[in-house]
Amino acid sequence: MSIYQEFGVRTIFNLAGTSTRVGGPVLAKEVADAMVNASQHSVDMTELQASASEYISKITGSEAAYVTAGASAGLTMAAASILAGLDPAKMEELPRVKSNKNQFIISREHRSGYDHAFRLAGAETVDVGMNEILSGAGVRRTEAWEYESAINERTAGIIYVATENSEPPIESIIDIAKKHNLPVVVDAAGQLPPRDNLRIFIEKGADLVAYSGGKAIKGPQSSGILCGKKEYISSVAMQSLDMDEFFDIWNPPFNLIDKSKITAIPRHGIGRGFKVAKEEIAGLLVALRMFIEKDIESEMEKCTKFLAIISNEIKSLNSDKVSTNIILPKNTEQYPILNLTSTTLNLFDLSNKFKNDAGLFLNETGLNDNHLTIHPMNLSDENIGEITSSLKNQLNEFMSKGI
Ligand SMILES: *Cc1c(COP(=O)(O)O)cnc(C)c1O
Repeated sequence: MSIYQEFGVRTIFNLAGTSTRVGGPVLAKEVADAMVNASQHSVDMTELQASASEYISKITGSEAAYVTAGASAGLTMAAASILAGLDPAKMEELPRVKSNKNQFIISREHRSGYDHAFRLAGAETVDVGMNEILSGAGVRRTEAWEYESAINERTAGIIYVATENSEPPIESIIDIAKKHNLPVVVDAAGQLPPRDNLRIFIEKGADLVAYSGGKAIKGPQSSGILCGKKEYISSVAMQSLDMDEFFDIWNPPFNLIDKSKITAIPRHGIGRGFKVAKEEIAGLLVALRMFIEKDIESEMEKCTKFLAIISNEIKSLNSDKVSTNIILPKNTEQYPILNLTSTTLNLFDLSNKFKNDAGLFLNETGLNDNHLTIHPMNLSDENIGEITSSLKNQLNEFMSKGI
């Protein structure tokens, strides 16, 4: 019996991918064991974050790093660290920024619900560019000069949301930022794999980069990484950790916080509500180690095989109402996906049936384009048989009802 049954909730199959709605990844046994192990000992949380900083920084090439409560929390703390620096008085004020130097420039194309993460710390987002390709009224995307023309005395930083086809190129934004002495925060929450992306943004000169720990790293769902310049990470630590300390006897590890730069200890900061448990930090570190050490290409080949099994079973229904298509990624470190495509079936209703009748949660991102997508990250030798036959049966039932 699963712990979920004990408390009256069904377990489901997460075929949607890294989605938060369905709890993110199923953890590797090693990660779960690390969390149990961590739970049985006590540690000084500042020392634990400092050692996490050292471990993560070796991987990312950053000066320092902090384990955050997810990438979204990482973005809030990135803004908080830029807005307050190492000044306890400014930390105390957030989300108010008395100086009014709180604007972060962001391309309209990069905006999403995650803007909220920045605003939470007191940042004001200022959009630049046009969405003229989507509006059908133009051919160009946001350009670097548009960022530059928005810079003024209230500008505190630049936000860059990384995707495989983000525009303008990050190099051009970092050049402008450096010229105006402004920090660049990169939201790279979902940009793993490929694993090179753990280093690339820091290498290019980004000041802070946020990753999700609960997506493809397969760490605890509420974990994340914020890495970058030490001064900002120190500020994140001071605004996140339990700060009920006495200044004279407060001795934070130097690699996380250089005490000689601090004049006083702030009270609990804006990150206090994003606390990360020792178990989550341990889980994230082990998940990250496994992520960088594993034979990821073989894992992706195996994922492709799982998707082929599902695809073949669906094809065996011999229906002309639905087709299957495995989409291989450009980079061999990335996940393949399987699209179920239909222009005759109501895929919204089908997705609902999958969820309600069999606990099969597929990725619904493509519903408006007539497909439902299966993401393979949680498929395994143990569950592939049950999932495949359940998908096939549900689909067959749905089609035989003549819907
Ligand atoms: C997933 C995601 C986030 C949030 O990450 P969490 O780790 O779930 O907090 C932020 N930005 C983007 C672009 C994302 O895809």
